[in-house]
Amino acid sequence: MKNKHITIILILTIFLITLTITIFNLNKIYINKIKPINIKINTYSKLKEKNKELNEKILKENNKYNENKKTLAKYLIEREKLEKIIYEKNDKADGKIIYLTFDDGPSIYTDEILNILDKYDVKATFFVTCSDNLDYYAKKYIEKGHTLGLHSCTHKYGQIYSSEENYFNDLNMLSNIVENSTGYKSKYVRFPGGSSNTVSRFNRGIMTTLSKKLYEYGYKYYDWNIDSNDAGGADSNQIYSNVIGALEYSNRDTSIVLMHDTKVETKNALEKIIIDALNMGYTFGNINDYTKEIHHYINN
Ligand SMILES: [Zn+2]
Repeated sequence: MKNKHITIILILTIFLITLTITIFNLNKIYINKIKPINIKINTYSKLKEKNKELNEKILKENNKYNENKKTLAKYLIEREKLEKIIYEKNDKADGKIIYLTFDDGPSIYTDEILNILDKYDVKATFFVTCSDNLDYYAKKYIEKGHTLGLHSCTHKYGQIYSSEENYFNDLNMLSNIVENSTGYKSKYVRFPGGSSNTVSRFNRGIMTTLSKKLYEYGYKYYDWNIDSNDAGGADSNQIYSNVIGALEYSNRDTSIVLMHDTKVETKNALEKIIIDALNMGYTFGNINDYTKEIHHYINN
């Protein structure tokens, strides 16, 4: 009987020990396995929340961006309507108009040039190239009421004039950047070197082909009848006399002036040119659908 008691106590003790060990181990499993999962769930839901916030911010910024594009596009449509009315009423002061055109920008001088134009409420035309700041300036040109024209993305003669395909790849690249940042697809083009350039002669007849193709694709191109010669290294006095001298001499109804907003001397000559041309009775205009298309003789 005594032996039986001892056996029962022993079995109970073993059972209790086993139970304690099991509970202890289960607890360990819970701490190691369950708890980290909870931590993971918590972290994950925080990330999800952050992601949601971020998405909302992106959406908000994107809406602002689209709104900006829509506003710019609206301005342009309004301006086109206005240009049509002005043209139909033939409400041109004196009929003598100067179109200042700035190629190769934007550049570090563009802001100052824009400020000078603003000071006299002069609208101009910018034939742009690809640069890091193009997005920013493309919007600025349009907001200020200037015309945004396409020059060339790379401006590499050897590349763009090597084939029709290469020319339009370059032009489309530029056009897409402008359209993506402003919502505006420009149809005004200036050939690097002008349509009369001979630098493209390594590819016979390319200018004849391109000038026709541009019109087939809905573009218009504009050369110039006054060269400020700023690209040829003229200083600000020479630039001034090249432009004002030509205006005095020619007395044309439409003067398209070639300039570059990449030249400091151009920036320095600009104010004097504007003041004198206004005093001579000229009106400044920016290229639009009704601008007389000044074309050079095509040499290639
Ligand atoms: Zn150029």
